[in-house]
Amino acid sequence: MKKTVAFSKNATNVFFHILTNCNLKCEHCYINKEQHGENILPVETIESWLQIFAEKNKDTNVVFLGGEPTLHPDLPLAIKKAKSLGYNSITVDTNGYLFHDILSKVDPHVLDYFSFSLDGATRKTNDMIRGKGSYDTCVAGIRKAIDKGFAASLIYTVSKKNLHELDKIAPLLKELGISRFFIQVIGIRGQSVKNRYEKLQVSRNEWLKTIPVVADKAAKLGITVTYPKVFLNEDEPFECAGLVAKNYFIFPNGRVYQCPICEDYPLHGYSLEGNTLLKTPKINETDLFGLNIPEGCVMNKLIQPRNLSYDKQGKPEYKVACCMLKEEIQGQ
Ligand code: SF4
Ligand code: SF4
Repeated sequence: MKKTVAFSKNATNVFFHILTNCNLKCEHCYINKEQHGENILPVETIESWLQIFAEKNKDTNVVFLGGEPTLHPDLPLAIKKAKSLGYNSITVDTNGYLFHDILSKVDPHVLDYFSFSLDGATRKTNDMIRGKGSYDTCVAGIRKAIDKGFAASLIYTVSKKNLHELDKIAPLLKELGISRFFIQVIGIRGQSVKNRYEKLQVSRNEWLKTIPVVADKAAKLGITVTYPKVFLNEDEPFECAGLVAKNYFIFPNGRVYQCPICEDYPLHGYSLEGNTLLKTPKINETDLFGLNIPEGCVMNKLIQPRNLSYDKQGKPEYKVACCMLKEEIQGQ
């Protein structure tokens, strides 16, 4: 049964980029070192920043990201700290290279998920986007993690380059033992801007024709599937997560965003200076969240307007939902 997951108003979600280095150069990577820093956060800083967000809310989830977070030699210590601070769930997003023998240094009872990224159901398509050898390494990493007792999820970022293979992914997920599947939509930021990925965003028709069908197929194999809603009909309410939810995207240079679409610009609403979380001066993302426009998401209209469409009277044909609004289908 498909359901729209309302923004959780009580939980806090922390997306913690502990470094921006990566061994891969994916074509649509959203990391922008000029904006996000090139430093590797010392573990003491990671621990202090984790504490700041744990104190904000008892119900807090953390996702460790990079770059490639397993390149950080102290990731296992950061995971242990998150556990001891009472984080509700702990996830590591990885490209599957699993550096520093991470699987031997973390307890599967402490980490909730390793979340792997593949952008094709075949070696050919995935490696065209993510680099030679990345498919085989990622698949081998998934198998090793599952063998060691970790739960694994998979993220597939959809563009025109790999939409045609999405319907082949469900049997692969089942065979690998993946329990959760996240379909993402390509965002026009970071490398996607340089690589002109705005031309590779899938249209509303393509999205609506393909994504729910694939999600349903994977759910029938017992896999829980989450995908962004993206498009709203006129009668569906629009909400901005920046106003009604608590999501924090932390970067190693101390920037803290609430809206991921802004991350190419110095529009962050907070910054971590030393070990203190401070509000940033105007104008920042928080000044834009409340703007009410017929197209729905303000940041989408400002930054990636190609996915909008208007009728002859200049009225938007649909609204674009908050990028954090998801549909979820439980595995059956
Ligand atoms: S998308 Fe992830 S794996 Fe790919 S280059 Fe960027 S950080 Fe690395
Ligand atoms: S994506 Fe749009 S709706 Fe969502 S937080 Fe950003 S500005 Fe708000």
